[in-house]
Amino acid sequence: MTERGLEKRAIDALPGPLFVFDAAGYMRYWNTHLERAWGYGRERIASMSPLDFFPAEERSRIREAVERVFAEGVAETEGEVEDAAGRRLPHRFAARRIDRMSDSLAVGLGVDIREQRRAEAALRASEQQFRAVFEQAALGIVIVGSDRRPTAVNPAFERIVGRPAAELESMTVDEFTHPDDAGLDLPWFRELQRGERSNYQLEKRYRTPAGETIHARTTVSRLHDPPNEGEPTSVIALVEDITEKHERESKLRQWANVFENTTEAILITDPENRIVDVNPAFTTITGYAAEEIRGQTPRVLKSGYHDQSFYERMWWSLQRDGVWQGEIWNRSKDGAVYPQTMTVNAVRDANGEVINYIAVITDVTQLRRSQQELEYLAHHDPLTGLANRVLLRDRLEHALSRQMRSPAGLAVVLLDLDRFKDVNDSLGHTTGDELLIAAATRLSAACRAQDTIARLGGDEFAVLAEDVSAEEEVARLASRLCRSLAEPIAVDGRELYVGASAGIAVPPRDGSDAETLVKNADTAMYRAKEESGSAYCFYAEEMGAVARERVRLEADLRRAIADEGLAVAYQPQFALATGQAIAVEALARWQHPEEGALSPGRFLPMAEESGLMSGIGSCVLRRACADAAAWRARGVAFGRVAVNLTAPELEEPALVDRIASILGETGLPGNCLELELTESAVVKTYRTAAANVAALRRMGVSLAVDDFGTGYSSLAYLKELDMQKLKLDRSFVRDLPGNERDAAIARAAIALGAALELEVVAEGVETAAERDFLAGAGCHAAQGYLYARPAPPERLPAVLGCS
Ligand code: C2E
Ligand code: CA
Ligand code: CA
Repeated sequence: MTERGLEKRAIDALPGPLFVFDAAGYMRYWNTHLERAWGYGRERIASMSPLDFFPAEERSRIREAVERVFAEGVAETEGEVEDAAGRRLPHRFAARRIDRMSDSLAVGLGVDIREQRRAEAALRASEQQFRAVFEQAALGIVIVGSDRRPTAVNPAFERIVGRPAAELESMTVDEFTHPDDAGLDLPWFRELQRGERSNYQLEKRYRTPAGETIHARTTVSRLHDPPNEGEPTSVIALVEDITEKHERESKLRQWANVFENTTEAILITDPENRIVDVNPAFTTITGYAAEEIRGQTPRVLKSGYHDQSFYERMWWSLQRDGVWQGEIWNRSKDGAVYPQTMTVNAVRDANGEVINYIAVITDVTQLRRSQQELEYLAHHDPLTGLANRVLLRDRLEHALSRQMRSPAGLAVVLLDLDRFKDVNDSLGHTTGDELLIAAATRLSAACRAQDTIARLGGDEFAVLAEDVSAEEEVARLASRLCRSLAEPIAVDGRELYVGASAGIAVPPRDGSDAETLVKNADTAMYRAKEESGSAYCFYAEEMGAVARERVRLEADLRRAIADEGLAVAYQPQFALATGQAIAVEALARWQHPEEGALSPGRFLPMAEESGLMSGIGSCVLRRACADAAAWRARGVAFGRVAVNLTAPELEEPALVDRIASILGETGLPGNCLELELTESAVVKTYRTAAANVAALRRMGVSLAVDDFGTGYSSLAYLKELDMQKLKLDRSFVRDLPGNERDAAIARAAIALGAALELEVVAEGVETAAERDFLAGAGCHAAQGYLYARPAPPERLPAVLGCS
């Protein structure tokens, strides 16, 4: 290749258009890049002047550059070429004049600056966007140089820190930061500058010139990415003012702290009055944990002490004033009811809608307790601690008002010590006081839990008895109260006999208000004092007589049992075939000092009611065994001695031991004892008493079913319990042989006994006709007036014909 050929190729390889033109305006030479880039053909170019490549509006500038290059030798300009297709292509041109001998030429080189133009436009746009964001952002934006001085701040940042840009740009960041936070982020800032991290976040405080503290959340990033070695790097910080949020949060924290730790219970409900939250003090006071009460309504706390209108008033004042305050009785989880001071506030939102109700509850139990102490003093007798007259009247009135709705037995018993005045006069007031205290203790012990005992003054006491079902019960209480004071009282090592009289008034007969009742009980009490021998009197005497009688009888029976004052009569049973005595039945008898001989029908039901039955039972059992042992010793042939037993006695765990020891003491063999149980008692106990029965059987004791035919016709027990004898009830015997039905029952019972291999004894046989029928039906034995009436033990040998 020639030198010229190489030059040409080099020129064609240039990345821009190159062209040579003369002063007359003709294109003299151009490279192929120009043809390619501008799209004109070689022929066409040859006929063009450089100006022809430009649109009309560009030409004056281009012409000027052309003139300048010939005049001055060098020119540069920019201009938009219009290519063959009419597109505008921006170029920068540089031209040099080339002087030759004859003429001058100019060489121009163009650079397509389309890309550069586009980049410049993009940069401008992004700068504008940044400006807009920078100027209008709600976030503070600050650009900080490596000397920690702001180089640019936006208006939002000026507002946040309260200083103008000019001032900020003369300070370091740390100078307008809160002193406690100055330099806080310095290590990170340095890391950022060194390129070790690209950003960081922190919460910090600024201080305004006015001394206010501003809380801010700041995000700091490197502005240039990545930094060149040793090149100082600016950072950009985005700053959010969180002062308000911070205050809200710290208020919330404070509130949460109060909520958690206050000693006052706090309860929060939603507008529908459902519980949203409660605090720990609430749990302490009411016993309800937050989890279990959430979602419920405060009604769970209702004590029932307030009526509907109370709650209505509360709601009304909440609606009207947004607040209610007052004392309320609430019920805690364990059921206890406490007085509490409560303040309820309605919390409303900006629109005035209720969003919550907040109740603050103070437990005033403590306060109440001291009030109660005062109240106690006002209502109690300081000497004895009993209720005083005021409290008695309150309780009585309250009980009376309740009684108006539902009649529950009430009675007022007034008591007066008989010889208190003597003690006081002779032994002094101190002894008198001690006697009164001792008397109060005795009376309290004699009362039931539901009774109110009061000291009305001096030696006068009163008892308000509630829930007494019958007048007898009141009489019994009065008798018990008097008896408790009849026992000698030990005071100062002396035995004092005081005694007391009582008067009873029962509403509504003896008065329907407290005052009348107390007055009438007082009158009755004086009558009791006058009538020597009667410890208490009812105000309405004729009504009280029956009750008093019963109670007296009961007391007498108790004494008779205690003194072994009960007697036993015996009635034999004879074998129909041989006329031999097979058993004698022991029947309880009570020789009353005034009433004479009382039959079991009179006193046994009463004994059962007042729990005296087992006392009677052991008494009879002991007598019967002792008498039987004595007859045996005398050679009297009586067979067995039969003792009646009630169901509770048979179930008693100690029964077997008691019988064993009685047999042991009296020396009577077990097989000489028989126990009679009514049919109904057997049915009732055949499971519960099975162990006792088995033990008795092992001792040789035999068992008889009493009053057979009157109970349930269940035969199961006859098999289950090991019975030896049936006693056919007198009601079937009485009308024999005329009554067909009774005759059939008697025959059936006798047949049943035979089938079960039981001995059958007919009770209450009074006539020979009855006896003959029974004998004909196969009955083994008979008991009744036809043979013998019950007789005292000493007469039994004669009755049996062996005196
Ligand atoms: P019971 O066990 O059926 O005793 C028989 C009752 O019939 C006795 O009455 C007896 O006196 C009476 N009696 C006997 N033969 C005739 C007669 O031919 N005609 C008539 N009309 N009656 C006759 P009593 O002694 O009044 O006893 C009544 C009930 O009291 C006894 O009925 C018995 O269930 C009960 N009882 C008596 N003593 C005791 C006892 O010590 N303990 C227990 N738990 N109950 C007893
Ligand atoms: Ca009997
Ligand atoms: Ca009987």
